Amino acid sequence: MRTRLICVLLLGSSFAVMAAGQSSSGGPAAQEPALPYTPSLDLASMDKLADPCVNFYQYACGGWKKNNPIPADQTSWSVYAKLYQDNLQFLRGILEQASVNSGQRKAVTQEIGDFYAACMDEAAVEKQGLAPVQNYLDAVAGLKSAKELAPLIARLQMVYGRSVVFAGGSTQDPDDSERVIAELDQGGLGLPDRDYYTKEDAKSKETRERYVLHVQKVFELMGENAETAKKDAETVMRLETAFAKASLTRVERRDPYKLKHKMKVAELDTLAPKFDWKGYYGVAEYPTFEILNVATPDFFKEINARLTAEPLDNWKTYLRFHVVDSASPFLSLAFVNENFEFYRKYLRGAKEQQARWKRCVQYTDHQLGEALGQAFVEKVFSPELKQSTLDMVRRIEDSMALRIQRLDWMSPETKEQALKKLHGIRNKIGYPDAWRDYSSIKLTRDDFADNMARTSSFERHRQINKIGKPVDRKEWGMSPPTVNAYYDPQMNDINFPAGVLQPPLYDAKLDAAPNYGNTGGTIGHELTHGFDDEGSQYDATGNLKNWWTKEDRTKFDARTKCVEDQYAGYVVVDEIRINSKLTLGEDVADLGGELLAYMAWQDATKGLNLTPRDGLTPEQRFFVGFAQWACENDRPEEQRVRAATDPHSPGQYRINGVVVNMPEFAAAFACKAGQPMTKPPEKVCKVW
Ligand SMILES: [Zn+2]
Repeated sequence: MRTRLICVLLLGSSFAVMAAGQSSSGGPAAQEPALPYTPSLDLASMDKLADPCVNFYQYACGGWKKNNPIPADQTSWSVYAKLYQDNLQFLRGILEQASVNSGQRKAVTQEIGDFYAACMDEAAVEKQGLAPVQNYLDAVAGLKSAKELAPLIARLQMVYGRSVVFAGGSTQDPDDSERVIAELDQGGLGLPDRDYYTKEDAKSKETRERYVLHVQKVFELMGENAETAKKDAETVMRLETAFAKASLTRVERRDPYKLKHKMKVAELDTLAPKFDWKGYYGVAEYPTFEILNVATPDFFKEINARLTAEPLDNWKTYLRFHVVDSASPFLSLAFVNENFEFYRKYLRGAKEQQARWKRCVQYTDHQLGEALGQAFVEKVFSPELKQSTLDMVRRIEDSMALRIQRLDWMSPETKEQALKKLHGIRNKIGYPDAWRDYSSIKLTRDDFADNMARTSSFERHRQINKIGKPVDRKEWGMSPPTVNAYYDPQMNDINFPAGVLQPPLYDAKLDAAPNYGNTGGTIGHELTHGFDDEGSQYDATGNLKNWWTKEDRTKFDARTKCVEDQYAGYVVVDEIRINSKLTLGEDVADLGGELLAYMAWQDATKGLNLTPRDGLTPEQRFFVGFAQWACENDRPEEQRVRAATDPHSPGQYRINGVVVNMPEFAAAFACKAGQPMTKPPEKVCKVW
């Protein structure tokens, strides 16, 4: 459960994002796996008619936006999304070969091959209908008392996770990053964020009405008549609204101290005495432990209150819905379709369901990522690529060290601590040293829903079994094919999966300018997360411990406030502006990352005689290379969901919002004072 602390470059995918929909076998099978090539600086993606000093994003990405309409089955489309789709096509080839039951497959090949084959066997899935979840529904129906809720919730969470009332698992101790302790956190909602339940604007009200209709539809698919289903849907909505009101907002959750409430197990019985914690932990098979962190105590007080206030039948109604709603993407077509209609079509604007093979490749990557990843890196990630990336990382870290040393506002004491933290960062590139072993999971070729349940349960047990053991610093939180990267403040490490180190992001065929602008900026972005408003509260060992003098912290906060104020002015869609208290860490990382990349690029090419290419100076190529990572088109529905849930600003501001703070940019394009892509020197935001 480190996800809430991990700062990623992009919004992470989840089943709610990618899951579900109608049947489609979708096009011819993939041939021998190969990834297509697009250069990291693509002239055709530019709009040369646009003035870079007026709207740089349009200048660098206007051609891309025009040439890349959003595919009908997508909610947004971007350079990153396109590369991920290429990866899926590539992985499809691997999986189709792996799924041939030749009798001579390696164990890992058999795992991913059988999982994929079962997912693709639509006839078998269809025949099963609601059967895969029937034993869970029977267990819910058989509940006799509120006391029996706890062990049942534990059992359901092993498969369906935090969608069942709350989240339980493990975390690094915020005060001692070497130790793993148990953790409890809020959850239990069907809409993407707690704010969906509380906001009073017309669109939020409409979304709630549509959600209740969705819940009703799911009950009808379970066999209820319309009247009962409607009543049950209202019960679910009422319970979830109570949970939502007791939940912290995303902005509140960016303050790690608001999420730190360590207590002894016995204290849980004071916090929520109506919940049978012993029964809960027994069924989930936790090792014995004494200390846990309750991220959101008020949430658990509310759960406790509901245990008394709600008749048992209301709890049963809530649980029945969440079992089926969570499992819907893996059930028969009627459930898959309803899930698509609400979550992906209504909420996010997709026009069509993704082909089944696409969904099945994503499920395999999500559930067995380090088995599928082995075949992926074998084919696309060479030792040379790892070496050249590490070289870039080192140069960017050197630039950061130099920047820290040169800061005119920071005291020597704080600088010393900042440098200590910088030198403590671990760099993880490409893929893990040791692969996760899935061999204990029983996987079959003919029961997709069961494979999903077993792999989810395996992962949940794996997280729980970490409690009391030393932290595994070599572990990865993303699979190798993932087109994304992250910094983890408790691990104090940066992680770059092989999937993000491919063209057009990292392009071994091109020179340093676009590569530093693009991947160099991403490395700098992740590094800066260690020093953004949130990450900077953790020390070199990953403990939540202040290493700043009071004066320096005050000055630092004023600097991040400059960024917060700047982004607060940007419009996302219609009347919605960026919630810049939510995006602050990412905005600071975007700015810091590009400054570091520019410095490192200048250092890497010192003494070389760089010449213009394609009518662009080397400096201009650096900035166009930078901007072209973020080219994107988004559906307005998707923009709304992201404005509420995504800590990243929209692509155009991740570019234009950065370059206005870089005099190096204005110099490269000879922008004049007063033009939109410049700021008066006294207004320029400068954090690091
Ligand atoms: Zn980030």
